[in-house]
Amino acid sequence: MNAPELAVALDWDHRFTRLPETFYTRVVPTPLPDPYLVAFNPDAAALIGLDAQPASHPALIETLIGNRVPSGADPYAAIYAGHQFGTFVSQLGDGRAIALGDVRGPDGRRWDIQLKGAGQTPYSRMGDGRAVLRSSIREYLCSEAMHGLGIPTTRALAIVGSNARVRREQFETAAVVTRMAPCHVRFGSFELFYHRRQYAEVRQLADWVIDEHLPQLRDQAQAYVALLDTVVTRTAQLIAQWQAVGFCHGVMNTDNMSILGLTLDYGPFGFLDGFDVHHICNHSDDRGRYAYDMQPRVAQWNLYCLGQALLPLMEIEQAEHTLEQFTERYRLAYETRMRDKLGLVTAHADDPVLISDLLDLMHGSRTDFTRFFRALADFSLNAPGQSVLRNEFVDRDAFDAWAQRYAARLTQEARDPQERRVAMLATNPCYVLRNWMAEEAIQRARDLGDFGMIHALHQLLRTPFTEQEGMQRYAALPPDWATHISVSCSS
Ligand code: AMP
Ligand code: MG
Repeated sequence: MNAPELAVALDWDHRFTRLPETFYTRVVPTPLPDPYLVAFNPDAAALIGLDAQPASHPALIETLIGNRVPSGADPYAAIYAGHQFGTFVSQLGDGRAIALGDVRGPDGRRWDIQLKGAGQTPYSRMGDGRAVLRSSIREYLCSEAMHGLGIPTTRALAIVGSNARVRREQFETAAVVTRMAPCHVRFGSFELFYHRRQYAEVRQLADWVIDEHLPQLRDQAQAYVALLDTVVTRTAQLIAQWQAVGFCHGVMNTDNMSILGLTLDYGPFGFLDGFDVHHICNHSDDRGRYAYDMQPRVAQWNLYCLGQALLPLMEIEQAEHTLEQFTERYRLAYETRMRDKLGLVTAHADDPVLISDLLDLMHGSRTDFTRFFRALADFSLNAPGQSVLRNEFVDRDAFDAWAQRYAARLTQEARDPQERRVAMLATNPCYVLRNWMAEEAIQRARDLGDFGMIHALHQLLRTPFTEQEGMQRYAALPPDWATHISVSCSS
């Protein structure tokens, strides 16, 4: 084996391409000129047993942008369909993401490695198969930020850029972000075959997901019902986690919903700054279909699309019964997360009202979501009314009244206050990837060729619960110009 080959000596073991070619098309990436490394994530590299550093292995950069297919890879683009903003689109697919296949990591787990932006595929429709540097930076940082927050997500291994021009609203430059996940199968992967009446393929894909990713379901009497049930549970838990950190996905189309309950396809996402329950992070979403408060309902709607696609595998009553579980599972998951945020260990009947009253007050004052909950760890039982927190509210008397109730509620907890404080600081992050932070990193990369801030933000967001020296500005209120940032589907 020669030296460049060594750089990508990975333990390939392909799973998806063992399926028939009805599910994908084998396709190789289209090269991009003069690639340069923008970011590299050693955490993700360790997961796949990649110990080479791009700095000392230039061939790795060529591999990560798709100019050089490593031996052992089996590149493909998957086909899927999906409901986009409520409308069924009968055929989509990886229009610009080309997977190299599965790599087995040192711990035995396998990761599907995708190069997003690696060129056209049979599913590109009118698209150019490319991704721009701007959106690649956002995806890279947010995947790792979500992982740092403990939220299931695809991971990001690297960004490699090229000065090749890509036309969006303006001309931008191209980049490829290397994405990793156990698998990238979406709700829409099932919808495609259901709507084509290819029920044997619906079954084949369900069998594949079960055998390769959820083998524990195989022993259940009704494995397909158990599959739907698992997706319902995981999705309910995922959305509860999003809500509890103020994450808005922005494009919850069914083709962006992971069958494994991972956060998938980072586009015009956003974290709440000031709390606005109706916040719409995607500039292109003029009706607010995917607003913050809509996310649980949309997730359930999407699950119904999946349930319909799985109907060839179960009785309609079974599907309906399973899908109905979402409401209760979501409610439980959400309340648990919000109790954690308030530092409550026990569950009291009045807690949901305590939580929703607080959120109403925060909405009325556009109180900063991340900062408020972080600061709540220092809530003083002895002087609830004098807490600095009250300054975050327009109606301070109303907050004081809430604080009295909260103080009373805390006295019903047996947990030691110091212990509660520690737990709250481990639940309510100090740092999230606010839009302005990503925007500043993008501007520095684009205008100055300076990738330092991407690296700094990645380091910061790996451990978002720990206050880090010299990083106060990232825990502060966003700068004024942040309100003018507009993110759309363009990527
Ligand atoms: P998204 O909204 O980014 O999830 O994309 C929706 C669909 O359009 C997916 O099937 C993508 O693969 C495809 N797509 C998005 N952008 C491009 C592009 N520039 N070239 C080809 N396909 C694209
Ligand atoms: Mg997508």
